[in-house]
Amino acid sequence: MSEYFHSVTLNREACHGCITCVKRCPTEAIRVRGGKAQIIAERCIDCGECIRVCPHHAKLAVTDPLSGIEKFKYKVVLPPPSLFGQYKRQEDLELIRTALIGLGFDEVYEVAAAAELVSDATRRLMEQGALKGPVISSACPAVLRLIRIRFPNLLDNVLPLLPPMEVAARLARAKAVEETGLKPEEIGIAFLTPCPAKVTSVKNPMGTEKSSVDLAISVSDVYPALLASMNKCAERGVGPDHSQSGRTGLSWGNSGGEAAATFTMRYLAADGIENVINVLEQMEDEKLADQDFVELNACPAGCVGGVLNIENPYVAVTRMKHLRDYRPVACNHIQGEKLPTELPWDAPVEPITALRLDPSPMKAMQKMQRIEAIQKRLYGLDCGSCGAPSCRALAEDIVNGYADEDACIYILKKKVETVRDSLLKLKIGDRDKTDEKDGCAR
Ligand code: SF4
Ligand code: SF4
Repeated sequence: MSEYFHSVTLNREACHGCITCVKRCPTEAIRVRGGKAQIIAERCIDCGECIRVCPHHAKLAVTDPLSGIEKFKYKVVLPPPSLFGQYKRQEDLELIRTALIGLGFDEVYEVAAAAELVSDATRRLMEQGALKGPVISSACPAVLRLIRIRFPNLLDNVLPLLPPMEVAARLARAKAVEETGLKPEEIGIAFLTPCPAKVTSVKNPMGTEKSSVDLAISVSDVYPALLASMNKCAERGVGPDHSQSGRTGLSWGNSGGEAAATFTMRYLAADGIENVINVLEQMEDEKLADQDFVELNACPAGCVGGVLNIENPYVAVTRMKHLRDYRPVACNHIQGEKLPTELPWDAPVEPITALRLDPSPMKAMQKMQRIEAIQKRLYGLDCGSCGAPSCRALAEDIVNGYADEDACIYILKKKVETVRDSLLKLKIGDRDKTDEKDGCAR
């Protein structure tokens, strides 16, 4: 069993084995066996695509409960930029900030504020020529894990900075320690997550040994309570604006915001996991070598499209655009020459060998030859009826001992027909013998 924590899980009872998720998983991490889906943990990137497409709501995201914050003496909440696009009532950021305090938090630290620092640091590193181009954003944990599994040759291009969520958590804890005099462990940092990938990245961080986030609470779980709190706050009236971020940080909530903040003209921003894979394939083929920066988000439209959000992502994007119009360009800048220690990776991000056929190159080659031979015997329809996403994936499963050729319904059908024909021949032969015995003339 994998020790790696995955937020995305299956409710076996609800699964109908319909293979919808099998066909859409970007890393071919799902099989249907015995009429139920199974997730191959090593391959899963927690992109949430299977949650998005399952018609029976059998795929779920495990997140932390809001009540988990109670055990801490001082409670800080980190709202992501995408949260500000979830509500119709959002005259200003302060209404949501005040409503979060109404839920029992002592302090609000906007992830968008940390995003502005990450943007500053990215620009500096790019200007210094310290990065291998095209630079790939490291902010979406599903994309980063996808690169580790499927595109390890591109790891050197990944921006070696922690994502804004992690930077925000580090800065928020340091601020709370300074202001309250409490020990770091007495302070609870809760991130309101739009997607399962970020929950997984809190439990298994990339670029650092331990996450500074204590809890990852789903936006959809907190949504009703926050709405009620917003209504109460609006009735009472909201105080002066204390919001911490400008247009730059808030733009990170939708696709293109991070890339635009690099101030280069040569960038691209792709969203939706299929588009992301297309871009990474083109990068592998060196077709995008003239780009300076590549922003990739697994969810459609960016973090606003996360499966744990409530609002239609495109409605949320428009709302956030309006909200940004009244904000300064940026409210947070790196002071001094050196990058703050909270920003750079402090642990390596290594390739993951989940797609490797065998640790031994010789055995891997032999397996590859067997896969190709089996694939020739299969029908090439990629119908998914065997429970694997493609004939190639079934051939690989057979070679790895997870399935046999009879899983292919066409091979099985052919075998059944062969048996039927033999039985028929036998029957005819028996009848002829009986006829001969009875002296019947033909
Ligand atoms: S989409 Fe996947 S998880 Fe949902 S019912 Fe079909 S096989 Fe099961
Ligand atoms: S979360 Fe994404 S990678 Fe994991 S099983 Fe679902 S679709 Fe596949």
